[in-house]
Amino acid sequence: MQVMELTGPRVLVPGQRPQPVISADDEVLVRMTTVGVCGSDVHYYSAGRIGSQVVDFPFIVGHEGAGQVVATGTAVEHVSPGDAVAIEPAMCCGHCDQCRIGRMNTCRNLRFLGCPGQAEGCLAEYLVMPASSCIPLPSGVDAEQAALSEPLAISLYALRRAALSPQTTVGIFGYGPIGMGVHLMMTAHGCCAPWISEPLAERRRLAQGQGAAGVHPPEQIEAAVPAAVPELLDVAFECCGEQEALDQALRLLKPGGTLMLIGIPPTLDNWSMPVDLMRHREITVRNVRRQCGCVEDTLHLIAAGRIDTEAMISHRLPFAATAQAFDMVADYRDGVMKAMVEVSNGT
Ligand SMILES: [Zn+2]
Ligand SMILES: [Zn+2]
Repeated sequence: MQVMELTGPRVLVPGQRPQPVISADDEVLVRMTTVGVCGSDVHYYSAGRIGSQVVDFPFIVGHEGAGQVVATGTAVEHVSPGDAVAIEPAMCCGHCDQCRIGRMNTCRNLRFLGCPGQAEGCLAEYLVMPASSCIPLPSGVDAEQAALSEPLAISLYALRRAALSPQTTVGIFGYGPIGMGVHLMMTAHGCCAPWISEPLAERRRLAQGQGAAGVHPPEQIEAAVPAAVPELLDVAFECCGEQEALDQALRLLKPGGTLMLIGIPPTLDNWSMPVDLMRHREITVRNVRRQCGCVEDTLHLIAAGRIDTEAMISHRLPFAATAQAFDMVADYRDGVMKAMVEVSNGT
């Protein structure tokens, strides 16, 4: 089968691999239809690593996928050949202490698609996954929306961890797909319009189109928020992994406020945080590790028409142009928000 593999930093080329086969009775063979390009894939592409996770070339990335079931193991009941499915890229062990208390996202033995040392990704024609990672689509959800449910589920999980009420005042720092996803999920749940800080003009325009309280570049956000909300914000979502954004988010939080950390700092080993401010304002910090149990709910929100997925998809490229999609995302070119790669058309 054809795959797209990383063979070195910023080298993503077509390759051939043996087609994977079902080797356990709870496995499913899927033909990939659509794969979304994620910022984390692009970190592996550009830098060959994210923190301690280092790529051993050649390597296949990609974890935001949707496909069509081709064959199933004998114990698989909830999907059949021909079904369209969203791929849940996290494969947890189901028996460690974390899995037993429902924290599958911090499973001790987690394998995640496209993560070095764990599993290769889904930028391939075929993929074998455990049945639990194949989520049937509610009617009306297409393959692109199914692939998009992975990053959107992270935003939904972040929203749940932040425990927002309809009155909660919110700032979103960084308006990439995750920051935009938080915004879309807030809208879907009837939350207040958020304040948004984003350096790129085209992303600020997108944010404005989704109904924000205010959208500003980072150099203006620290004047704009206090002018309109003197008490400052209840919750800040850091969605870009930049120290400067974290600093700003903290300065704009009110006493008792909560900082949500979702962004992946590609180069930092340590965040720095101002001790005085953190103590005096008694700030709560919550990390968001991908998501846990939010894919189905995300798919249902999409099926109900409550998430503007079309607004997030900025580019659609054929499989052969995967490298172009990665370059675009790596360089923030052409106003890219979410680029989708069509692996096959499902026929
Ligand atoms: Zn992702
Ligand atoms: Zn586990």
